[in-house]
Amino acid sequence: MNFNNISVLRSVSVILMNCLFVSTVMAQSEATNRLLERNRMFEKQVIQVADNVYTASGYTVSANSMIIGEDGVVIIDPGSSPSTSQLVRQEFEKITDKPVRAIIYTHSHPDHINGSVAFYEEGRGIQVWQRNNYASERGRQVEAGLDADVRPSRAMGSELPDEQRIGVGVAIPPARPAGRSADMAGARQPATTQPASRPQGNVPPTHTFGEDRVSLEIAGIKLDLVAAPGETDDQLYVWLPEERVLFAGDNFYQSWPNVYPLRGTARRSTRDWIASLASMMAENPLVLVGGHTTPITEDTMTVLTNYHDALKWVHDKTIEGAKKFLTPDELVEYAALPEHLADLDYLQDYYGSVEGTVRDIYAQDLGWFDGNVLNLHRENPVQQAQRMADLVGGVDELMSKAKRAMESGDELGAAQLAWHVTKLQPASADAFQLLGEALAIIAERTFNTPVRNYTFSSSNRYLERAADSR
Ligand SMILES: [Zn+2]
Repeated sequence: MNFNNISVLRSVSVILMNCLFVSTVMAQSEATNRLLERNRMFEKQVIQVADNVYTASGYTVSANSMIIGEDGVVIIDPGSSPSTSQLVRQEFEKITDKPVRAIIYTHSHPDHINGSVAFYEEGRGIQVWQRNNYASERGRQVEAGLDADVRPSRAMGSELPDEQRIGVGVAIPPARPAGRSADMAGARQPATTQPASRPQGNVPPTHTFGEDRVSLEIAGIKLDLVAAPGETDDQLYVWLPEERVLFAGDNFYQSWPNVYPLRGTARRSTRDWIASLASMMAENPLVLVGGHTTPITEDTMTVLTNYHDALKWVHDKTIEGAKKFLTPDELVEYAALPEHLADLDYLQDYYGSVEGTVRDIYAQDLGWFDGNVLNLHRENPVQQAQRMADLVGGVDELMSKAKRAMESGDELGAAQLAWHVTKLQPASADAFQLLGEALAIIAERTFNTPVRNYTFSSSNRYLERAADSR
């Protein structure tokens, strides 16, 4: 990846040079620095996590593992694309020349399965394992006839220039296939739901199971496959009892879990996820290999317990607060993590967010209505904007106040006021320009990568709209 501090600084400087209202150069934000630091985790490496177990990190969007048995190997999550997964295969072949006997998918997301042809060969009896509800996560937007590309690409930053697209939180930013957006993290549904864009190399399971747990022996390797709904309903974890290694799929990675994907394509049960983490804890693993980020090899039970406890805390506090008629906006503060969990690096909002989790738990259990009676009597956006303009003495004064907010460093205030102006004056280049510039600065300071990417994407669209209006 060609990210570096200089390119980001340059982009921020360009934004600021183009900005009508800010004349001083802003320092690179702490959020940007932390995300650049996080990207160092995704340098290519093969990590030996136990005697006969290796995990490749940084080659594909997901983490890809190999267990070496007596007369063959088992591959867990072959990766995100044939070309990048082929690099993993080459690295694994430097360790052993034993043939692939089985491939296990922890779940059906494309970034975990689309590289399977790099390991799979027809006619060799290779078993491909998943649960019998494989690919049950249907694209709700696709079913509804919604354009399934818009929100994934904005949340993943697929359309952003490289200097803005510095991260996706739990992986290297995936390469952009020519003319397409990325192959990242379920942004696309499996081939079974989108036959028109059937991805390269997605081998369907040859073996599935419907029980909670199956115990297998493949190439002399004893392993359990355990149903573990969470990040997807078809999620499983792989348990190696002799080595005490647990492959968690996307029910664990070093980030706050992505309970609500901003792309809006899935509903994920926090309660199922918590129960699956408890089931993983009961195995008492020495090593925890997540679906993304590097494996946990030290203090594993402490990490797993904290991960479980943190998600349970946010769930329980959200329900507790909802019983008191707190609204989601209030619950975000009410359900915030306690100090001993809030500072842990693997619980930071790199990918999922605590705030998104609170709002999603509320929405799944209680629906869109937040309990505020005024939200049963909403006005349309133009009427709301007109009230705001009337309050300050007209739309011109509203625009002046937006500019003054920007000058004083209140970019969020500026964006909110300018947004109202765009509702009243949809052809106002100045309002769209100010809105786009304010959002660019907000995005650069945003730590959660889907929110950051979505904010940059929106900023760019408003700046284009401003240019089109001139
Ligand atoms: Zn994943």
